[in-house]
Amino acid sequence: MTASPKTIDKHRAEIVSLNPATLEEVARFHITTAAEVNAAVDRARAAQPAWGALSFNDRARIVLQVQSELFDRKEEIVRIISDETGKPPFEALSTEVFMVSDLMSHFATNAQRILKSQKFSLAVMRNKRSMLVYEPLGVVGVISPWNFPFSIPVGEIVMALMAGNAVVFKPSEYTPLVGDAIKRLFAAAGIPEGVLEVVQGDGSTGAALVESKVDKIFFTGSVRTGKRIAESAAKRLLPIVLELGGKDPMIVCEDAPFERTVKGAVWGAFMNCGQVCASVERLYVMEPIAQKFIAAVVEEVKKLRVGAPGPDCSTDVGPLVNERQLGVVVDHVSDAVAKGARVLAGGRERPDLGGYFFEPTVLVNVNDSMKVMTDETFGPVLPIKIVKTEEEAISEANNSRYGLLASVWTADNERGRRIANRIEAGTVIINDALYTHGAAQTPWFGVKESGIGVTHGEAGLFEFVRMKHLNWDLFPMKSDWWWFPYTPRWYGRFKALMRLLYRRGLRKIA
Ligand code: NAD
Repeated sequence: MTASPKTIDKHRAEIVSLNPATLEEVARFHITTAAEVNAAVDRARAAQPAWGALSFNDRARIVLQVQSELFDRKEEIVRIISDETGKPPFEALSTEVFMVSDLMSHFATNAQRILKSQKFSLAVMRNKRSMLVYEPLGVVGVISPWNFPFSIPVGEIVMALMAGNAVVFKPSEYTPLVGDAIKRLFAAAGIPEGVLEVVQGDGSTGAALVESKVDKIFFTGSVRTGKRIAESAAKRLLPIVLELGGKDPMIVCEDAPFERTVKGAVWGAFMNCGQVCASVERLYVMEPIAQKFIAAVVEEVKKLRVGAPGPDCSTDVGPLVNERQLGVVVDHVSDAVAKGARVLAGGRERPDLGGYFFEPTVLVNVNDSMKVMTDETFGPVLPIKIVKTEEEAISEANNSRYGLLASVWTADNERGRRIANRIEAGTVIINDALYTHGAAQTPWFGVKESGIGVTHGEAGLFEFVRMKHLNWDLFPMKSDWWWFPYTPRWYGRFKALMRLLYRRGLRKIA
C-alpha cells in the first residue's frame, strides 16, 4: 500500500478527511475540545425548552423544510457523501438521501400519534386512573460512523427533534464534511439556534460527549467502541442506545427463487463495498443447488465494475473507506486462504485504481477456524458454505456472537417464517437483503453483541422520550385500604378478596 491513511493531525488539532478513491484531501476541521463539547451541550440545554414547548406541527414544519432543502440540494449532498466515503453516487442517493427523506415524512406526520398520552383504568383498584405521558429527554448525543454518514445521523436527529429534544451530534472523523453539510441543511431550514449542535473530532470528542451532561447517547459503530461507551455511561447510569456490528448470515434453501437469490446475495454482500452492519457476511447454501448457485454468484460478481465513483453510474463498487479497513479485509482473506479457503473471484488489493480498493471476493471451503467466518469483515468478501439440512443452516447461522440481521431465501414464505423464527437476530428478512434499516417504519436493533435498544419504527421513537406515569383517584376517599392503621378487619377483607379473585382453579387456560 503506497497511500497515506486518512490522518488525525493531533499537532494541529485538526481532522483531515480524504477521498478514499483518490486519496486527495476533501476537508479539514478543527477538533472540538472537551470544553467546547460541554459548551455545545450547554447551548443545546438552553435551547431545548422552547423547542420542546413547540407543537408537533411546528416541529414537523421545520423537519419538512429540511426535507425540501435536501430535495433542492440532493446532487450536492450526494457528491459530498460520495467524496468522503467513495461510495457510488447511486448508493448515496438511493440508500441515504432518498431513504432519509422518507423517514422525515414518516416521523413528521406520525410522531404525534405515536407519542400520544394513554389513559387506562386498573383492574382491582377501581377508584384509580392512570395515564402515560411522553416527555422529551432534554439533550441527546448522537455519535455516528462513516459508512452511512448521512442517513444514520439524520434519521436519529429527526426522531430526536420530533420528540422535542435538542441534539449534539458528532460525525465520524472520516466524514466530517458530511457532518457539516447536515448542520448547514438544518440551519437553512430555520432550526432555532442551539437545537442542533455539531461537534467535530475523533474518539476523544465522542468520549467527551459521553462524559458531558447529555441525557442519553445514541451510538452507532463498532462493538469495541460500544463497550467503551457502555463502561463510561455506567458511571452515571447514562441511558444509551448502541447499534453495533454484525456477521449477518444468509440462508439459501434449495427452493429459493434462483435468479433473485443470486442477485440478492451479490447486492447484499457488496453494496457499499460490503461496509454495512447488515451486509451478507456468511452465506449458507443447501447442497442440492449449491454448485449451480455458487457458479451463478461468481459470474455475477465478475460483472461488478470496481473503481472511483464516476459520472453516469459507471461503477458499482467503490473503495474501502480507509487503510485500516482495507487492512482488515486483507487479513481476513489471507487468513482464510492460509487455512484452506479457495478464492473463486477477486481476492486482491487494487492500488492501481488509486485508493483503498479490494476486488469483490468470493470464498468457498470456509470453516469456523477462519476470521472471515467469525469476525466482522466489513468489506467486499462473501464466504459461502454448503450445508446439508435446514437444521444445519439454522445452527450455523446462530453460531455467532453477533445477532443483527439475517435473511432466508425460499419460494415458500411459510417455510421462510419457520426458519426465521429460530434465528437469533434483531431482524430476519425473507427473500431480501439488508434493506430494512432504510425503512422508517421498521424497528432496527441487534441482539447478542450487536447492540442495545432500538432505532427506527415506533419502538425507536420511544427511545427519545421519558415515560411519565400519572395516577389519580376518580372519587376522593378519606383513606385507602392498604394505609395505616393495619387492622384485623382489613386483613380479613384482603383474604376475602383474594378468595374471590385468585383462589385455586378459578382461572383456566384453554
Ligand atoms: P467506530 O466504533 O470506530 O466509530 C464510530 C463513532 O464512534 C465515530 O464517530 C468515532 O469517532 C466514535 N468514537 C470512537 N471512540 C469513541 C469513544 N471512546 N467514545 C465515544 N465515541 C467514540 O466505528 P466505525 O468504524 O466508524 O463504524 C463501523 C462499525 O459500525 C461497524 O462495526 C458496523 O457494523 C457498525 N455499524 C452498525 C450499524 C447498526 O445500525 N447496527 C450501522 C452502521 C455501522
